[in-house]
Amino acid sequence: VATRTPFIAGNWKMNLDHLQAIAFVQKLHWSLKDAKHGDDSVEVGLFPPFTDLRTVQTLLDADKIPFALGGQDLSTKDSGAYTGEISGAFLAKLACRYVIIGHSERREYHAESDEVVAEKVKAALRHGLVPVICVGETSEDLEKFGASAVPVGQLQVALDGVASSADIVVAYEPVWAIGSGQAATPEQAQDVCAKLRDVIADKLGADAAARTRVLYGGSVKAANIASFMREPDVDGALVGGASLVVDEFSAIVRFQK
Ligand code: PEP
Repeated sequence: VATRTPFIAGNWKMNLDHLQAIAFVQKLHWSLKDAKHGDDSVEVGLFPPFTDLRTVQTLLDADKIPFALGGQDLSTKDSGAYTGEISGAFLAKLACRYVIIGHSERREYHAESDEVVAEKVKAALRHGLVPVICVGETSEDLEKFGASAVPVGQLQVALDGVASSADIVVAYEPVWAIGSGQAATPEQAQDVCAKLRDVIADKLGADAAARTRVLYGGSVKAANIASFMREPDVDGALVGGASLVVDEFSAIVRFQK
């Protein structure tokens, strides 16, 4: 059985400017000093706004802080006349290991289709970044099709043409649970995460399915993280609101099953 290092990822969204980011990262590091992050027991990932990446990277490097860094999005293109876009090459140069792709806010406010998400996954892999591929159903989808049909379909398209050796992370984020305070139940999360793992097996093979981390996201907090982490197919969490509160995020990272 493959062991998958739990991954707790904090998506800051459009919060914390570069000065606030310095204070936040220092406090978080302090708060986690005696916790076992940075070894194989749990990986912590931070996803700040683009304009914070350089500052945060410098700080992590200078203080040897073992948080992984990632962007919240990237361009499908590598360079050129694409005003306002950010290349995966730039993220890689700033020591980003990860990039979030297809977050529901990108899908909703920037009309990102499944096909654009698939192109972005390939762009990330081209630059050696690990895509954190977000999928999930809206409340209307849930009523019409049940929980798993939409995320399963989204992941099938996102993995088109991806090599079986690719290093990826998948995040199941029911849209109705994001920022709503109403998390999925651990059983609901387990059910869909297991189906997403089946998609990985179909598209990339059994080895990839066994090693790939599938996260749950949507109103995760210190009080419910353990219940998700007890589920066999939930390998971590993508955390929005609670990742902006040092004590709360620190408690999530210190979850005990
Ligand atoms: C998110 O936006 O990825 C998210 C999970 O947000 P929240 O934790 O605030 O629900």
